[in-house]
This record gives sequence, structure tokens and C-alpha cells, in this order.
Amino acid sequence: MSEVPTLEDLEARVGDLNGKRVLVRTDFNVPLDDNGAITDDFRIRAALPTIEWLTERGANVVTASHLGRPKGAPDPRYSMDPVRERLAELAPGVGLLENLRFDPGETANDPVFVSTLVDGIDAYVNDAFGASHRSHASIVGPPKFVPSAAGRLLQNEVDVLLSLRDKPKRPFVAILGGAKISDKLGVVEALLDVVDSLIVGGAMCFTFFAAQGKPIGDSLFEPDHVETCKRLLVEAGERGKTIHLPDDITGVDANGEYATFGSRLPDGAKGFDIGPGSAALFTDVIMDARMVFWNGPMGMFEDERFAAGTQTVAQAMADTKAFTVVGGGDSAAALAQFKLDDEIDHVSTGGGASLEILENGDLPGLQALREGTS
Ligand code: ADP
Ligand code: MG
Repeated sequence: MSEVPTLEDLEARVGDLNGKRVLVRTDFNVPLDDNGAITDDFRIRAALPTIEWLTERGANVVTASHLGRPKGAPDPRYSMDPVRERLAELAPGVGLLENLRFDPGETANDPVFVSTLVDGIDAYVNDAFGASHRSHASIVGPPKFVPSAAGRLLQNEVDVLLSLRDKPKRPFVAILGGAKISDKLGVVEALLDVVDSLIVGGAMCFTFFAAQGKPIGDSLFEPDHVETCKRLLVEAGERGKTIHLPDDITGVDANGEYATFGSRLPDGAKGFDIGPGSAALFTDVIMDARMVFWNGPMGMFEDERFAAGTQTVAQAMADTKAFTVVGGGDSAAALAQFKLDDEIDHVSTGGGASLEILENGDLPGLQALREGTS
């Protein structure tokens, strides 16, 4: 990301930052429990290197983030107060604006909202990797008006994720899971260009099974994408790439009882996890790889009966000598649940953003920083 201005470039442009008011767009979209308490402050801690770099130079830092999905109006459930309290402990004296999405201008990228954001601001730093795939006001607006730069977190995320595309170590394996294939079709196509093999788990595998003509019982699948999966299977074959699909599945039978199946599910059965044989097969592929990217759990791991596949894959990610990168909110939560997050080379703070940069090699937030005030 050579052309994207760094904090050093910003200092060279603005001069002494002492007393300068710097708006930092952070991704403080933290998970909250039912009582509104933060369950994981990983995203707040991840912004500290940038915040501290600025405060060490005497800058007056104001952070801004969205939290949850309020509908363009104030909603007490998504107040930034719990984040503000935690931030005050981690970085005393740093400001935090109210939830950006309380204003409909944020998602609409309204120029009026942009002008209120940059009012009185001397410089802008984007450190919100997890929101940089969105053309929202706080992401793409400020660089048009004030000197701007990428923060340390954004820079590091982009460097790591682009290295997967540009400098793959082979074998390069991508593991995709999660609930919906429709979220991930673009990245499956793009990844087929760079990976040596693709592992597919999660509910996504049932759309591939349907494409292979296998019965899937009542498992979650997306009928509109069966044809695309057929084409992807053919294309992978033509390009000498392997798509590894599970050959056993755990779930519930027609009576709702826990059961293990092969890759052909009986009537009324629902698949909720990859089976032990598939988990072992996927482990072998991960252990033999030199680079692995993982997005999306292998099953409905929130239910402990269906966590085994995700846990086995997470353990293989921890054990392999390969360079390992994990993107995706639920995948990162699964790693944290199994206490394996420290064993991964790079756990991305962005789900959608990590997939989009792998797919396109760029993000709207990065484009805005490159274009700047020109
Ligand atoms: P990430 O946040 O890591 O990108 P996703 O949001 O795409 O992952 O998918 C996570 C969700 O997918 C989890 O809530 C999980 O329960 C669900 N899921 C995975 N496999 C299945 C399955 N076989 N059936 C139903 N839901 C599943
Ligand atoms: Mg998710």
C-alpha cells in the first residue's frame, strides 16, 4: 500500500502535531452482552498504537466509530458509553464522538455530515480497517478536506492481507465456512485464482453438495447459488485446484436427535457441523500448507454439540507451521473461545473488509486516502 499516506507522511505534511486536533476513525464496533457490557475489547486495544503515536506528539485526539446497526437515529442500546468508559481506562484524555450511525448521513455518505465531522479538525486518520470496505461518510469523506493518513492498524491489516494475494507461499490454502455462500461467492472466485486448494465447511457446503446432486435433507442452503457452485467446481477442476468438501456431517436427524451422516443426508436431517473424518482430512491439508487464510466457522459452534469441527480446524491453524491469517467476527470469536487466538499469525479486525480486500486488492477507504485533497 505504498501510495497510501502513513502517519509519518501526515507529520511531514502537517508539521508539528502538538495541539493539532486529529480525528481518528476507529472500529470500536465491539461485541456487547445483553446488559450492554463489552465482552471483548480487542478492537479498542487494536487502535492504541495509532492513538498513542498521536498523543505522544501532543495531538488532541478525537476518535469516532459506529457500534451495531442503529437505524440512522439515536438508540440507547447502541450508545458509545461502554466504549467511552473502556477507552478512558486505556487512553485517558482521548475523545470519542457518539455513534456515527445515529446520523443517517453516515451510511448515506452525506456531504453535510462530512462537513460536521471535519469542522475544527486539522488532520484525519483512518484506523478502521473493519469499516474501510464501506463508502460511508466517516471513511471516504474527511480525506477530501483535511490532510489524512492510514493508522497503524489499517496499514498492518492491508500489508498482511495483500501479501496473501501478491506473495503467496505455496501450498496456499483458504478455508471458508459460515452461514451464507452468497456473502462469499466473490471471494471464492477471486481466491481460486491465487490458492492451491480451498476447504469449504459451514452451511456453505450444502449449496456445493446440492450442486453435486447430493441430498442435503433440511440443511440450510441457497438454491439461487447452486448453478454458481456447479460452475466453481468445474472451474476449479480445469485450473488444477482442489475444492475440499466434507465427507461426513454431524447434525440432527428427522426426530431432532444428534446424529452423524456421510455426505448424503437423509430426509428431514439438518447438518450443523463437519464430521470428525472431515475435520481430520482438513487438518492434514492445513498441516501441509505454507500459508492459510480462514474465514467462517465450520459449523454452528455457538452450540457446543456442533463446535468440534471448528475447534479441530482452529487447533490445526494453531499447530501448523504455515503463516496463518483469520478474518471474520465469528471466526475470531471462535478462536478466542478456544483460547487459540495467540497462536495465529494475524487475526484480522475485519470480516467483510478482509474478504473484500482479498477479492479486489483495494478498499474504498484506501482509495479515499490515496486521492486525498487533490
Ligand atoms: P464470520 O463472522 O467469521 O465471517 P459468518 O458470519 O459468515 O462468519 O458465519 C458465522 C455463522 O455461521 C455462525 O453463527 C454459525 O453458527 C453459522 N453456521 C456455520 N455453519 C452452520 C451450519 N451448518 N448451519 C447453520 N449455521 C451455521
Ligand atoms: Mg459473522
